[in-house]
Amino acid sequence: MNIPQRTAIVTGGARGIGAAVSRRLAADGCQVAVVDLDDSACAETVAAVEELGSKAIAVGADVSDEAAVQAAVDRVASDLGAPTVLVNNAGITRDNLLFKMSTADWDSVMNVHLRGAFLMSRATQRHMTEVGWGRIVNLSSISALGNRGQANYAAAKAGLQGFTKTLALELGRFGVTVNAIAPGFIATEMTAATAERLGMSFEDFKAANAKEIPVGRVGEPDDIANAVSFFADERASFVSGQVLYVAGGPTA
Ligand code: NAP
Repeated sequence: MNIPQRTAIVTGGARGIGAAVSRRLAADGCQVAVVDLDDSACAETVAAVEELGSKAIAVGADVSDEAAVQAAVDRVASDLGAPTVLVNNAGITRDNLLFKMSTADWDSVMNVHLRGAFLMSRATQRHMTEVGWGRIVNLSSISALGNRGQANYAAAKAGLQGFTKTLALELGRFGVTVNAIAPGFIATEMTAATAERLGMSFEDFKAANAKEIPVGRVGEPDDIANAVSFFADERASFVSGQVLYVAGGPTA
């Protein structure tokens, strides 16, 4: 089929993996709506996308806020056209052992990852099904397999895998594929913050993690962006409901 100009929404696109995904999708020819809590934080990513020759807009929205999500998707549709690629990437961590984990830390992680992906996908699928083509990519994590101190995050990331498979079943007939990427350790502000919490320098933390990774290095945001690029492409039209672990080695 003739694929329309792709318009992508990347949540949490201001920095880290979301910024790399935005740049990579722009290089692939997509227009990009960079969504993050604070629209001014998106300026650098928007400029990078424009430098690559694609249109971009910054949209401030909390993905866990239903009204903000609807307003964000409406704005993308009116400013750039129907969003046909959605990357649910916005994320937070609130790590603690179960006996010390507050209800607020449980709820905020669930709200950003699970409720956020649900609200964004529900608001965007209408455009994809109308066009008859769409791509949803959800950011899971190797933590979905269990990770000490991350009961909230692991549950949310495992939940996203079930969410992915279910949307793949529901939306396939409309030309919409839904896949998940489960990264291992990626060097971003999120992992830098974990190093700080553990009282380690980021360099030492990365080196310690690299020792456990078969390819001998930690991941970079572009490693994830490359996988998103594949799922968002027409060449992946027969791949749906999959979880791709991008972790430098096999996962248990
Ligand atoms: P990051 O550097 O912390 O960036 C996350 C971005 O999401 C930030 O710009 C943040 O904005 C934004 N965000 C947070 N809550 C939001 C909300 N409610 N609405 C809109 N935007 C929100 O994280 P990252 O390392 O790039 O991770 C990106 C995704 O990959 C996350 O889903 C993460 O769980 C997943 N992941 C990361 C790793 C890793 O090793 N880094 C591994 C596996 C999976 P603020 O700056 O304003 O908070």
